[in-house]
Amino acid sequence: MGLLDAIGEALSRKKTTLADKDYKCPSCGAKVTLNMERCPSCGVRIKSMFRKKCPKCSELCELDAKICPQCNYNFEAELARAKKQVWRCPICGYEMETLYTRCPVCNTRFM
Ligand SMILES: [Zn+2]
Ligand SMILES: [Zn+2]
Ligand SMILES: [Zn+2]
Repeated sequence: MGLLDAIGEALSRKKTTLADKDYKCPSCGAKVTLNMERCPSCGVRIKSMFRKKCPKCSELCELDAKICPQCNYNFEAELARAKKQVWRCPICGYEMETLYTRCPVCNTRFM
């Protein structure tokens, strides 16, 4: 299993959690999920109602689109980059997910 397989697996897992979330139908307000094709109450097409805007070209893309069809902007790569912010101690190289005032490993003061 290569790196691309691992990424693909992580992405499909993320998509499932997104689809399982409850949303309000933009048309009638009924509770819907993104894996519904249409709103059970008013019949509006769910997937085409919820869109995400491409930060690069402002194209409105399908919520589960991984790549903007207009400019090839990669949503997933951007999401992964935004999520994975770590601070690294300049002295010992310890990686922290939250910024401490001191390095928990070598006790260097950061601020
Ligand atoms: Zn509806
Ligand atoms: Zn775009
Ligand atoms: Zn350190």
